[in-house]
Amino acid sequence: MAQVEVESKPSRHSLPDATGHFGPYGGMYVPETLVTPLFELAEAYREAWEDPAFHRELDLQLKTYAGRPTELYFAERLTRHLGGARVYFKREDLLHTGAHKINNALGQALLAKRMGKKRIIAETGAGQHGIATASVCAKLGLECIIYMGAVDMERQALNVYRMRLSGAEVRGVDAGQKTLKEAINEAIRDWVTHVRSTHYVLGSALGAHPYPMMVRNFHKVIGEETRLQIMEAEGRLPDEMVACIGGGSNAIGFFFDFLDDPGVRLTGVEAGGYGIAPGKHAARFEGGKLGVLQGCKTFILQNPDGQIDVTHSVSAGLDYAAIGPEHAYYRDRKRIDFAYATDEETLEAFRMCARMEGIIPALESAHALACVAKRAPRLPSDSVIVVNLSGRGDKDVQEAARLMDAVEQAR
Ligand SMILES: *Cc1c(COP(=O)(O)O)cnc(C)c1O
Repeated sequence: MAQVEVESKPSRHSLPDATGHFGPYGGMYVPETLVTPLFELAEAYREAWEDPAFHRELDLQLKTYAGRPTELYFAERLTRHLGGARVYFKREDLLHTGAHKINNALGQALLAKRMGKKRIIAETGAGQHGIATASVCAKLGLECIIYMGAVDMERQALNVYRMRLSGAEVRGVDAGQKTLKEAINEAIRDWVTHVRSTHYVLGSALGAHPYPMMVRNFHKVIGEETRLQIMEAEGRLPDEMVACIGGGSNAIGFFFDFLDDPGVRLTGVEAGGYGIAPGKHAARFEGGKLGVLQGCKTFILQNPDGQIDVTHSVSAGLDYAAIGPEHAYYRDRKRIDFAYATDEETLEAFRMCARMEGIIPALESAHALACVAKRAPRLPSDSVIVVNLSGRGDKDVQEAARLMDAVEQAR
């Protein structure tokens, strides 16, 4: 019998371990009633992921419904404007419903259908994940309930309407700050009660195992496409890849295929908000500490008593107190670098991208662009940066206009 080779260090494919840990991070910190369902989900997922028929269906829907592959675009004028590295955009903004989130929503909804679960629940902050989930549920004929903070519902009334138009029931959550964190609590509560009939489509690379792994794998197509496309365009791998990080799903999907290429620098950009002070930002690696939130152990913005801090970002998609556990792991190993962009730098980058390229990025993605705007000029002109344009900015133009007016008036 052939001997099994023992690996000297964990490979990116062997993580997380069977209990969902990435080193000290991740895991399954949930009420006891959810432990068995989570292991069942992990098993159903593993079985689906190994089934070529599941991939055939997923690939077909990613192509015909979501719009994959997305283009890799050379930002020629922006490159000239910044005067350094050649800048490429991975165009996740061109996907159906406007962001990368559809990759995961589609994958999980197909998995739920395979598991015989006809009722879908999800949480949403600004509404992007809610819209992706509601759309996919309409398409697959699944019942859909979206939990959303009452404050967010008011701020994002149009997105609430879009979800309802696709047949979803949007349930307002009145607890606490009435935003994303409370919506997740409510979704978890629903799931505990209805776990036999219901699948919870979690929206980022967060939460209890198997979610961080599953969500990452539904998004890793972003990086796999990027590798082929940059080889075609430049004949080599990029020097640096940059993505914004809320929970971390677009970033880990973009980076995953490059973790074993030490020549490619990977940079995640968090939300610096008004600047790094308690309550003013959402940069977990700047002001956060190790803790447990909503199922997983990771870096969290919290006060000395462990109460979760209020967070702030100009972009709702990055405005969350915890970061995905896999990012914490690769930060320790110095494989992924982290930076942050303030609201002000982000608005500047938002405007720059629209002016130079005629592409309005999501404010989340504009955080990554703000980092590129600092980095590219310092690099030689034969170097290559790829930035993940995680979403489009149609949803943000009203807010950007309001903020830019306020800046003008203050001058
Ligand atoms: C939700 C969202 C994000 C943040 O989520 P991640 O899980 O960190 O990717 C980033 N960009 C856009 C456009 C989003 O909608």
